[in-house]
Amino acid sequence: MPTAGGLSNSLTGGKEIGCTAVQLFTGSPRQWHHPPLDPEVAAKFRQTQAETGIAVAVAHDSYLINLAAPDPDILDRSRKAFRRELDRSEMLGLPWVVTHMGAHLDSGEEAGIALLIESTRAILEETEGMQVGIAMETTAGQGTGLGYRFEQIARVLEGAGAHPRLGVCLDTCHIFVAGYDIRDEESYQKTFAEFDRLIGLDRLKVIHANDAKKPLGSRVDRHEHLGEGEIGIETFRLLVTDPRLKNIPIIIETPDSETMHAVNLAKLKRLAAGGSLGMRVTVRFFGHYSDFSPDGMEVSVPGGATVASLSAILAEKDGRLAGIERHCRAAVNEEYVAPDAVLQEGDEVAFIPPMSGG
Ligand SMILES: [Zn+2]
Repeated sequence: MPTAGGLSNSLTGGKEIGCTAVQLFTGSPRQWHHPPLDPEVAAKFRQTQAETGIAVAVAHDSYLINLAAPDPDILDRSRKAFRRELDRSEMLGLPWVVTHMGAHLDSGEEAGIALLIESTRAILEETEGMQVGIAMETTAGQGTGLGYRFEQIARVLEGAGAHPRLGVCLDTCHIFVAGYDIRDEESYQKTFAEFDRLIGLDRLKVIHANDAKKPLGSRVDRHEHLGEGEIGIETFRLLVTDPRLKNIPIIIETPDSETMHAVNLAKLKRLAAGGSLGMRVTVRFFGHYSDFSPDGMEVSVPGGATVASLSAILAEKDGRLAGIERHCRAAVNEEYVAPDAVLQEGDEVAFIPPMSGG
């Protein structure tokens, strides 16, 4: 969630669209230096979290940090910057800082992993006594990035002494483009069994739910709206109904956050509630209702939805639409229908009040 205007705005913005967990940058993600966090800002953040009831907030570290950098200067800068990430998150009361595992930059994977282990050990030692932990994120394996195989993550966890403040963040887009299939129940279960065998599900602390623009094994990291990419909606249904993951925060990191986070979140909630996402229909309003949405709107409805159940979904979105099925005649694809008419994917549903000349 965006932090423009203050870190606590990530919480109020999240609350507005119905989040129960949020992720934020505690500093600008493309800058090395940040002034130390003002204790008043931290206090306001904690107070806002209590007021909004957002259960979990986690941080994502700066994109500049590379804890496996072969250049000693960059490595030193990265460790110091990461230490400050932990300091800020500790002040804010965040349980985890999610970090990409770094890139070896052609020094080789072995050298990269060795440096990463060394960095992690040093940082954990230096911050002993803190509550905040490090969640290593599974990566797409772009370029020389580390952490695209569960084995690599397992080695780092083990190398850093299986520390209790060390966890893992699983990103569905990243593991998929890194080559782990999760598109149906069988492949999903197989991939999670492998994660459990090599890393341990008890180490899984954060999930990033993103669909992928690029295919399985492409190692290209481009996030897509849930259900609209190469992974498909079924995986997200499996994810939000998996009892093993019940208490793990799920973060959406898809494009067009301002307009689309609410839409993607609504999809996850509907899937979690046991509904199928079903299909999209276009709704058009006539008469005085046309003020509500002059150009009509796209609505996701479960498979088997009727005009009446669509009306209930509309009333949920906006109370002014409550009872629209009683106040209007409904037409589907320009034919008048009864409220129990079953909708199909792509239908155009019109609500026409009497005397509107519709
Ligand atoms: Zn991610």
